[in-house]
Amino acid sequence: MSNCAIVGINWGDEGKGRMVDLVTQDYDVVIRYQGGSNAGHTVVNEYGKFGLHLLPSGIFRKGVVNILGNGVALDCEALWQEMENVMQAGVAITPENLKISERTPLLLPYHRDLDALEEARLKDKAYGSTKRGIAPFYSDKYQKKVLLAGELFHPEKLKEHLATILQWKNLTVANVYGAKPYALEDMLAWLEEFGGKIKPFICNTVTYLRDAQAAGKRFLFEAQLGALRDLDFGIVPYTTSSNAVAAYAPVGAGCPSVRLDTVIGVVKAYSTCVGEGPFTCEWFGEEAEQLRQAGGEYGVSTGRPRRVGPIDLVATRYGVEVQGATTLALTKLDILSYMEKIPVCTHYRLDGQLTDEFPFPSALDDAEPVVEYLDGWKTDISGVRRWEDLPKAAQDYVLYIEKAVGCPIGYVSVGPERDAIILR
Ligand code: GDP
Repeated sequence: MSNCAIVGINWGDEGKGRMVDLVTQDYDVVIRYQGGSNAGHTVVNEYGKFGLHLLPSGIFRKGVVNILGNGVALDCEALWQEMENVMQAGVAITPENLKISERTPLLLPYHRDLDALEEARLKDKAYGSTKRGIAPFYSDKYQKKVLLAGELFHPEKLKEHLATILQWKNLTVANVYGAKPYALEDMLAWLEEFGGKIKPFICNTVTYLRDAQAAGKRFLFEAQLGALRDLDFGIVPYTTSSNAVAAYAPVGAGCPSVRLDTVIGVVKAYSTCVGEGPFTCEWFGEEAEQLRQAGGEYGVSTGRPRRVGPIDLVATRYGVEVQGATTLALTKLDILSYMEKIPVCTHYRLDGQLTDEFPFPSALDDAEPVVEYLDGWKTDISGVRRWEDLPKAAQDYVLYIEKAVGCPIGYVSVGPERDAIILR
């Protein structure tokens, strides 16, 4: 297992953070390769409970080097707040265990504001953005109108560069949204304050990773969100603005020639979704509330109640395919313990036909779930640590999913704690 990516198979919030926290012991370097402070991982360990947004989950392991790669949307202010929070719990964060690529572009305050302005303009057609500036940031990246973290070391050039960018940006701010233009001095002051805090961590991570690779170090790539939120393969336009698929990991991490040996796809034992867009298996009313309460399904970044429903095998199979998962981690199996019968969406009905292919985004609105029921186990399984100690009905549920999606389930998670895991 020299290089491994841990990725989401569904809509995100599958429990990737807890999986990275678990397996980091086998890796030397943990790298975040996409996304920004818009989604969160929850990690529970000996230091406490943390909602991580930008920091790689390996930050809690001694000896692990954590990297924010060039594919990330780097909001210095959000990162610094998160670092302070983690350091307050007694975790050391130094330039030895956290490195930020000099090639990582900076997300600035106007990206956040523009995100909110655009959502407001869209009104009831809003995408359900978390308003952390992610979509405006990635648009600017592709237009090559961003500052790179390494520019903080060249203040005079940075000032000139930012002035040119702002001149352009203010055209949109004022003329499209009718908002107040941004002053160069304000942006520079913000950069001095928060850019200054993270400057000691910025370096050439491309050469660092090249040398680490040559020295035989093992890399763990950490994704945010899931396959169905991938910019290219997800439910467009209800996706994030970056590639959450494993194939992007070496590029966004800053080591494009590295090959992935293992892809751990994280799947939740039921479905949850944050934000807008089609969610075929969605439950409403009391049934939904019961599952939401049982699973504590509220967003880490936003506190928003998540939409919930039974596991969706059509979407999960598609997620496994586009992620190229080599093994799966099924999380939150313990949450289903209250159910008499466990619902499973096996197919969709679309235009009067049964299908097990995940539909094109605009067809998805018309898809209806076909649900089967498996036996429940009705007993607390959160203390179980061995496969043979799981109730037969819980084993059957795991085996059913494994067969239906065509990928081995190597890990079954029965609680948020690091050790609440069954290895198969
Ligand atoms: P991520 O973004 O994929 O890391 O997922 P989140 O952190 O948003 O959501 C996963 C939530 O489920 C977190 O609160 C975890 O602590 C919790 N969690 C993860 N695995 C399990 C599990 O097997 N059982 C229970 N009860 N909670 C879990």
